[in-house]
Amino acid sequence: MTDNVHAHEIHKFGSMAELWWDKQGEFKTLHAVNPLRLKFIQEYLSIAGKRAVDVGCGGGILTEALAQLGVNALGIDLSHDLIDVAELHALETETASVNYQKIAVEKLAEEQPESFDFVTCMEMLEHVPDAGSIVAACAKLVKSDGMVFFSTLNRKPKAFLLAIVAAEYVLQMVPKGTHEYKTFIKPSELSQTARAVGLELQGIIGIEYNPLTQHFSLGKDVDVNYIAAFKKIA
Ligand code: SAH
Repeated sequence: MTDNVHAHEIHKFGSMAELWWDKQGEFKTLHAVNPLRLKFIQEYLSIAGKRAVDVGCGGGILTEALAQLGVNALGIDLSHDLIDVAELHALETETASVNYQKIAVEKLAEEQPESFDFVTCMEMLEHVPDAGSIVAACAKLVKSDGMVFFSTLNRKPKAFLLAIVAAEYVLQMVPKGTHEYKTFIKPSELSQTARAVGLELQGIIGIEYNPLTQHFSLGKDVDVNYIAAFKKIA
């Protein structure tokens, strides 16, 4: 097993497991942005019938939605409680072609290299000790010419103000203590790390929030939260 995990992060997310699918609850932001990430992913490939792994899947918000769009989806996470929640939810919604496994991404990459048409890893890199190791494992999991998608928070003062001060404390959109500024990753750092393991940046988009309408949208502003698409170069 890898040591590339903060036990307190797994505990933090796992302790809120039963709230995961409450669309107005602690994780409402993940529910709100989910259609946007699905839209972005589908701009890069036709996903139906493809095999994908969702790394750091939590309770399966993205994994299950992918499966419902015809993807043969595997969700992995190190939180036992969240894997349980994800499995139960898939049973309730009778979602076929979704599976979950509690396994480290580095281990899965050793076991099943070059096995997936695309890999997603959303809002997870900022919660691990070594994000580079996760990026490398995602690169190893995907087939040649396959796609890897990451979303994370940008290490910019604006992200500190909006993603931590506003979202956690003022608007209380996400639980207090969810994020730590120093773990945020600049797009330039992510693309450099990815390039070193054979992933070439194809596109990047910002997830913007309008506090007046309380809506998220995709846009040019990558200063706070962003999604990036990479292709594995043979
Ligand atoms: N990707 C999901 C959940 C994001 S929350 C979504 O966007 O909907 C962050 C998730 O990362 C939590 O489920 C947490 O358990 C998981 N996580 C944190 N460190 C991890 C690690 N080292 N390996 C796998 N999952 C991890």
